[in-house]
Amino acid sequence: MRKPHIETQAARGGINIDKHHGAVVAPIHLSSTYALKGFNEKRDFDYSRTGNPTRATFGQTVADLEEGSTGIVTSTGMSAVHLLLQLVSVGDSVVIPHDCYGGSYRLFSFLAKKGNFNLIVVDQSDDAALEQALLSQPKLVLIETPSNPLLRIVDIQKISEQAKQAGALVAVDNTFLSPVIQKPLLLGADIVFHSTTKYLNGHSDIVGGVLVTKDPALGEELAWWANCIGITGSAFDSYLALRGLKTLPLRIAQHQATALAVAKFLDANEAIEQVYFPGLTGHPQHQLAKTQQNGFGAMLSFEVKGGVEAVKALFDNLSLFTLAQSLGGVESLISHPSTMTHAGMDIEAQKAAGISQSLVRISVGIEHVDDIIADLAHGLQCSQNP
Ligand SMILES: *Cc1c(COP(=O)(O)O)cnc(C)c1O
Repeated sequence: MRKPHIETQAARGGINIDKHHGAVVAPIHLSSTYALKGFNEKRDFDYSRTGNPTRATFGQTVADLEEGSTGIVTSTGMSAVHLLLQLVSVGDSVVIPHDCYGGSYRLFSFLAKKGNFNLIVVDQSDDAALEQALLSQPKLVLIETPSNPLLRIVDIQKISEQAKQAGALVAVDNTFLSPVIQKPLLLGADIVFHSTTKYLNGHSDIVGGVLVTKDPALGEELAWWANCIGITGSAFDSYLALRGLKTLPLRIAQHQATALAVAKFLDANEAIEQVYFPGLTGHPQHQLAKTQQNGFGAMLSFEVKGGVEAVKALFDNLSLFTLAQSLGGVESLISHPSTMTHAGMDIEAQKAAGISQSLVRISVGIEHVDDIIADLAHGLQCSQNP
């Protein structure tokens, strides 16, 4: 049978699964427990931490979009990362990128400090450094591309091949792009995961996570752990996320088109020092982004001339952007990584990571592109005369 397009898979998520009443939309099941049919006669579900019909439907829909076998829905993106670490034992090595999500970095580094595993942090675009790290025969290699907030891109296929040769499992954080733009399991990864708080739900009204495996046995092992630790996602959040997911391909198409226009506008603006967006031909991994991704996403960052004073003036004079962390919702958000998402790093560490005081990150929403650009144009003009 011909495989449906991702737009079709997303729109049909959970449609027509209700056998009792024929509800078109997958019902929400809030019950915490499920009656047995009779003595020692089980049904599909028994207790909601272990399994829940609404959560199962959402998990399977994401697994289908990612072209994997098993989808495990977790309470947050961070609990999906935590779940991953159940695969690692004392004495194992874990390789993570130097510029991964701050919350992931914190979890990995503090658990490593407790002796749970050996942590190796590398710049995965540096072939020699990666090869050196893989000599430790790690159990797990984490990849995150594009990176936050500088939108650096690494080659998933190449790193996965190298990691496999070293005997490692490869997990990719696909939060910034979604399966509409990038499918890590088709590029050789074993596991892909998301903070569903971002694009998958897309409406900034839940926190959640999901993890998808290629191999059903690995999926079963992780589902066992998710139940054991008790980090599975709620039925209500799963319901909302499934609802959000239906429009994911449509939203992404608009997000991306607008982001490219905004990036080009910023690139030509006199108040801007530099724009970081993989869709611009001047981006160092523009070619890699073109081959590895089906589009360039809608996250971008830029440096404003005039330092932190100019940043403040810019923020004070915007009316359409909301000053907030997070990303991937229909509304445009703006943030200052140095004092917000990356405030946990001291200034020296920020500098080493390329995060300056004048760096601004935006999550481009689906408002009309003309309104977004007009707002930025006004704000940037004010930024140069604070
Ligand atoms: C937000 C985010 C996470 C963590 O997800 P939460 O839902 O906030 O726990 C992990 N990775 C990336 C890339 C993120 O943006």
